[in-house]
Amino acid sequence: MQSGFTLGRLAGIRIKIDWSWLLIFAFLTWNLGVAFGQMHPGWTIALRWSMALIASFLFFIAVLAHELAHSLVAQAQGVPVRSITLFLFGGVSDIQKEPPSPRAEFLITIVGPITSVVLGIILALAGGFLAGSAAFTPGQTTSILSQFSPLVTLLLWLGSINILVGLFNLIPGFPLDGGRLVRSILWAITDDLRRATHSASILGQAIAWLMILSGIAMFFGIQIPFFGAGILNGIWLAFIGWFLYNASVQSYRQVVVQDLLEDVPVTRLMRLNPPTVTADQSVGELVHDRLMATDERAFPVVDDGRFLGLITLEDIRSVDKNAWATTTAREIMTPVASLVTMNVNEDASTAINKLRQQDVRQLPVMEDGRLTGLIRRRDILKWLQLQTAN
Ligand SMILES: [Zn+2]
Repeated sequence: MQSGFTLGRLAGIRIKIDWSWLLIFAFLTWNLGVAFGQMHPGWTIALRWSMALIASFLFFIAVLAHELAHSLVAQAQGVPVRSITLFLFGGVSDIQKEPPSPRAEFLITIVGPITSVVLGIILALAGGFLAGSAAFTPGQTTSILSQFSPLVTLLLWLGSINILVGLFNLIPGFPLDGGRLVRSILWAITDDLRRATHSASILGQAIAWLMILSGIAMFFGIQIPFFGAGILNGIWLAFIGWFLYNASVQSYRQVVVQDLLEDVPVTRLMRLNPPTVTADQSVGELVHDRLMATDERAFPVVDDGRFLGLITLEDIRSVDKNAWATTTAREIMTPVASLVTMNVNEDASTAINKLRQQDVRQLPVMEDGRLTGLIRRRDILKWLQLQTAN
């Protein structure tokens, strides 16, 4: 889910579109165009396809509303949200860390399906109301459906699809919303987030397999309750199951990583006495004497034993090459006050969480305000490889 483009910002949250979303948008529009054609033989081709386009567009606005509901409640609960991405399987919110409590996770999660279902009911009721007040031609032999106006058709379809989206997300397969609700409840009961995640992801994998097998059964023409039958629907359900399975396994792996790193002191994995630079050193010196002379990508700035800040490869890259001789380390470093740091008595699982949250490669490890080392992402990965080799 890397490639795509940013649509804009809503409430400080970046709204992104992944390229794979264009595929599902085209697929949905095509399906709707065909369905509208069968339902309404009287519609012109232009009307049929423009209605299909409008309907899929509004559907994705509704998906966005579902994700926005998660994100806004997350922010209200003190959990930062960086972005919302629309992709092949709908929407996903990039929520930066685990919720602070089971109650917070429950609230953040439940608002998504509630938004979809309530929106769906309102739209369906509006459609039903308009359909009821319209006069039908008596004695018509064609189905009632074909007499619905474009607006009524749109409202009824959007209404029912949003209710479906809400219900689908309540399937208890972690990391679907339903699975997250299960996790928050297990978490509240056991007071152990790791164990709760583990159980929820095992349940998620079981449900994913059920979806894959149901999809295969549908492919071969067997009727599955709620999902029906059919080759395309079967492939689609199996595909979603496969995606859910991967997501569940991944969240389980995160639990394993947490377990392996818990109680491992950060001091055992950190790099002691990393090469440092002084505040008045020029960027040019830094590049030649440190960056190119070692295989480090980050250098603590230390003056008279005082830790002042950190310089990374990215900081150096932001300096124009012509200014290397005249720019000092102090000017481009991230000062210690703006750095997230580790304490010597914290463990490696805290380190990996901080590294992930900050999206950085290393963190300074401090003792009584003094720098004792750097904990780097690759050192933790090396340790993990050692633990998981059979
Ligand atoms: Zn959701």
